[in-house]
Amino acid sequence: MGVKVGIPQALLFHEFGGFWLDFFQNIGVPVALSGMTNKQILDRGTSLAIDESCVPLKVYLGHVDSLLATCSHIFVPRVTQYYPDNHLCAKLAGLPDIVQNTFRLAGKELISPNIENKSPTTMLKAVHAICQPLGVSALTGHRAYHQALKRWKGDIPIKSDQSAKARIAVIGHSYIIKDVFFNNDIENFFKSQSVDITTPSDIPSKRIYEEAKAFTQDIYWQLSMKIAGATRYFCQQTDISGVIMVSSFGCGPDSLVNEYLEHHILRQSDKPYMVINIDEHTGNAGLITRVEAFWDMVIRRLNT
Ligand code: SF4
Repeated sequence: MGVKVGIPQALLFHEFGGFWLDFFQNIGVPVALSGMTNKQILDRGTSLAIDESCVPLKVYLGHVDSLLATCSHIFVPRVTQYYPDNHLCAKLAGLPDIVQNTFRLAGKELISPNIENKSPTTMLKAVHAICQPLGVSALTGHRAYHQALKRWKGDIPIKSDQSAKARIAVIGHSYIIKDVFFNNDIENFFKSQSVDITTPSDIPSKRIYEEAKAFTQDIYWQLSMKIAGATRYFCQQTDISGVIMVSSFGCGPDSLVNEYLEHHILRQSDKPYMVINIDEHTGNAGLITRVEAFWDMVIRRLNT
């Protein structure tokens, strides 16, 4: 088998995927993506993971499994921190170990750079950890990294459909709300109602972290800070008619932080809100019934 790096299209791919793809393209190494999550991937991941895992981790293992037969290497970075003072959850920090233990991969099949912070030394080591097993020179790696970084830095403008009847903010980890397998039903429902959906990725990240500063003392996890910043931001926007928080059963950070956000932001704002917890058994019918009921509540509020 020739060299081909498999990239699971799950978890932090939804944060950094564009950057990673650019980097591998710049070093001239072919990559394969695992594609969109589907029922088969979810079922396979569920059978591989321990029961207590959160759904995104189960999904991730299903994505890894789908790549093994066709790829010489699997890219599973260990990201423990990339924003000062906050950390990623233990499942993300231990991801290469979980993958290694689940699939019994030989060390050389797994490309798992350590991202402990954004310092040049960390990045230098991470680039080396990727390039060395692929036979790519450190110089090529560094050029590729800086090129990809330059392209990736731009902020995303806030989009808005001016013709929409209303705007609903859907908040949660990017790997849940950007994964079509989980968000398609919600998105389709609101589309059918001519309602615009907005998510944290529509907010420039600088603004999210400015809003999140209000919670620096209380929130430890970095991705939870993003959710907190986005919740605070959306609750201040007059054109947001309601907020839906989507989270995963088995997520330690969400189980604490969602309660905190309900108490400190959502209940104090005048916006209707709903929290949806998903697991591998979450069915379309039950989900849509809840979203419909929420939308009825929003309409009543809009008409008063
Ligand atoms: S933050 Fe929650 S959903 Fe994300 S990997 Fe950790 S436990 Fe899973």
